[in-house]
Amino acid sequence: MSKLSVGQDISAGQLHSARSLGIKITQAIIVKAPGLLPMLYSPPELEGELGIPARTLRDWLKWGLPHQRDETGHIWINGQEFAAWVNAIRTAPKRTVPLKDGQAFCVGCRAAVIVLEPQRRRNGNRILLSGKCPTCGRTIHRGIRDDQ
Ligand SMILES: [Zn+2]
Repeated sequence: MSKLSVGQDISAGQLHSARSLGIKITQAIIVKAPGLLPMLYSPPELEGELGIPARTLRDWLKWGLPHQRDETGHIWINGQEFAAWVNAIRTAPKRTVPLKDGQAFCVGCRAAVIVLEPQRRRNGNRILLSGKCPTCGRTIHRGIRDDQ
């Protein structure tokens, strides 16, 4: 295995980063998520269904919860995609293939991909790498720890 650089602790990319960033998937959400319908929920609807604060949902959106925007900029979340995302985070393996520099994990493709149009933003002691998946065009993120 090669020597890892910055970001080694978030080697599963988006999934692992969600975890290490402290996204808490509570038991209540694990129980309720599979009951969501394959339809689009607005954030307030989803917050109501799951009994979570708006702030929590905003954080999840920021850290990779699949969603879409309509032409007026409103966010919509597919209930089944949400359930799959919860499940993916919950079951993300601890031991994972390290991501290379400039890569992130695409939930849609379930693969490590090179981030297109990468942008880096600092958030506390982490760097958020955002960009597009070259395969499916989905916006992807990766949290990179920066303790140095
Ligand atoms: Zn993709």
